[in-house]
Order: sequence, then structure tokens, then C-alpha cells
Amino acid sequence: MDDYHVIVIGGGPAGLTAGIYTSRAHLKTLLLESMIPSGQAYMAERIENYPGFPDGISGRELIERFTQQASRFGLDIQQFTPVDKVEVIKDTRTVIAGDKKFSASALIIATGAKWNQLGIPGEEEFSGKGISYCATCDGAFFKDQAVAVVGGGDTALEDALYLSRIAEKVYIIHRRDQLRAQKILQRKALEEPNIEFVWDTVVNEIKGEDAVKTLLLENVKKAKQRELAVGGVFIAVGQKPNSDFVRGLVELDDKNYIITDQNCATTVAGIFAAGDIRQKDLRQISTAVGDGALAAAAAERFIEGTL
Ligand code: NAP
Repeated sequence: MDDYHVIVIGGGPAGLTAGIYTSRAHLKTLLLESMIPSGQAYMAERIENYPGFPDGISGRELIERFTQQASRFGLDIQQFTPVDKVEVIKDTRTVIAGDKKFSASALIIATGAKWNQLGIPGEEEFSGKGISYCATCDGAFFKDQAVAVVGGGDTALEDALYLSRIAEKVYIIHRRDQLRAQKILQRKALEEPNIEFVWDTVVNEIKGEDAVKTLLLENVKKAKQRELAVGGVFIAVGQKPNSDFVRGLVELDDKNYIITDQNCATTVAGIFAAGDIRQKDLRQISTAVGDGALAAAAAERFIEGTL
């Protein structure tokens, strides 16, 4: 006899949605979360493209609302319980978290992704001393200073727009001369008077004493180096899926995202994946929520034997 009908691993929008659906369907569900229910969405200062909130909502408030809703349906949430391993032996799916073991008829993996690092000199040394991966968490420390954001995607531009309201000056350092970010964010950033784009440029080193003081920049087209004085640098160069604990169990793509079918089913029977961890084109809260619902419904049908 399994401990639970369903175990959800990860407490971001995908995992919490899956938990709302399975708990509401009277499936005994455990959600394991390495921190508190959060996910990357928790960090967002203002979410404007999640339907139902015409004035926008903070990531923190949205996740708190998801959590309250899940708890109302009886979802058992165990926080600060990072999962080390998943084992499947015959029909038993076991989740191992430190010295704890839990079994379930179906698993839903919703562990999301984490920020990439640049891997350059000074990055480790000044982490937390002027280097940040979360503008909404740390932006307030840089009031009226010059800061840099590295990257050209949605995160970089959102971070830069957020920082432009706090910092005196924001440099966006991008390795190409074209942005990957949505057009609406591009337009907003290009119009912001205290945002300056530094095109075709990479950061070779982060320098300082007690904290960050300068960035060693290289224009890759002109092969020219220069130093830029900043009080802080926000690194927004994409993310890496948190899939190490299922490597060798479910099939991953070349970037280590979990491959699923249209029901969010992985290549292992009874194991589903939802949200940013899944191989897909659009990683948003709305698509994570959709995945959570799909995975929950598929898990329910799997348990009933009708999938
Ligand atoms: P991303 O879309 O993968 O963009 C990463 C950026 O960093 C790219 O511009 C990339 O340059 C650059 N980069 C990568 N490695 C680099 C390196 N080693 N050195 C310098 N630059 C490097 O990542 P993201 O912006 O974090 O977004 C991730 C996902 O979340 C996306 O699907 C995005 O749409 C979504 N997202 C959505 C919202 C929203 O809708 N409000 C907000 C945030 C994120 P290249 O362009 O040259 O590859």
C-alpha cells in the first residue's frame, strides 16, 4: 500500500496547481518543496500577464494565494524537504528525501529551473557582495547607484526596468546586437531614459575590493576591452532545469528538460512532469498552471487505470 495516491515534487505554480487539482479530486496528495512554496515566480515584483489580475499582482502574493487554495483542499505540504532521488521498482514509486522515504501511485515532477551563472572570475567571490541573480530581491540595495544587467532575454529586461526605478543608471550588457526578449519589454527598455544598452559585449571579469566596483567588458565585434564602474551586477542569462535527481530515470532532452507527451506523461509510467522542468516552448506562470492541471488529470486517470 502506497503512502499517498500522488506525490508532487516542487511547490511553484505548476506543483501547487497539480496539488489543488489532485487534492480537490480527493486523492491523498503530498507536496515536497525544498524551501517554502515559491518557485521563480515568487521573485517577480509585478506579474502583468497572468489572467484575472487586471492591475497585476506580485509573485509572492500570487504564490501565497495558490498555497492557501491548495491547503483548503487538504494538500499536505512538507517544506524544507529537498528530494534526492526517485526510485521505481515494479509498481512502487518511491521518493527519497534525506532519511525520509515516501511512496505513491503517481508522481508529478514540478521542480522548475535555476539561474545560470556566467562562470567568470569574480562571480563567486562577489556573490552577495554586489552580484545578484534576483533584481526584485536585491535591487533596493542599489538605490541611486549605477548597476549592470547581463543578458538579453525577458528576465534581463524585466530586471532592468525594475532597477531603472531604483538605480541612477542601468546598463544592459548583451553579447549580441539583438534582443531575445518580448517586443513589449524591448520597447519599454529602449524608451527608458536611464537604461543604456551595451551591445555585442561580454563581461570577462567582475572586479572589486569588499564589493563589486567595476566590470571588465569586451566588445566581441571590435575585440576591445574596457572597464565599467558599477555598484552592482544582475546576472540574467537563462536557467538550468532542476532535473539531476531524475537523470537516468526519465528521458531528458539535450538541455536536461524532461520530455513528456501531451498529457505531461514522462517516459516512465506513472511519472508526470509539469512547468518549467518540462521541454516546451513557453515557460510562463500560465503555462505552468496549465501543465499542473494536465499532469494532475493524467495522474488521476493513471491511478484509475484509464490513461
Ligand atoms: P533566456 O530567454 O534563455 O535568455 C537568456 C539571455 O542571456 C539571452 O539573451 C542570452 O543571449 C543571454 N546569455 C545566455 N548565456 C550567456 C552567457 N554565457 N553570457 C552572456 N549572455 C548570455 O532566459 P530568461 O530571460 O531568464 O527567460 C527564461 C524563460 O522565462 C523564457 O522562456 C522567458 O520568456 C520566460 N520569462 C518570461 C517572463 C514574462 O513573460 N514576464 C519574464 C521572465 C522570464 P542570446 O540571446 O545571445 O542567446
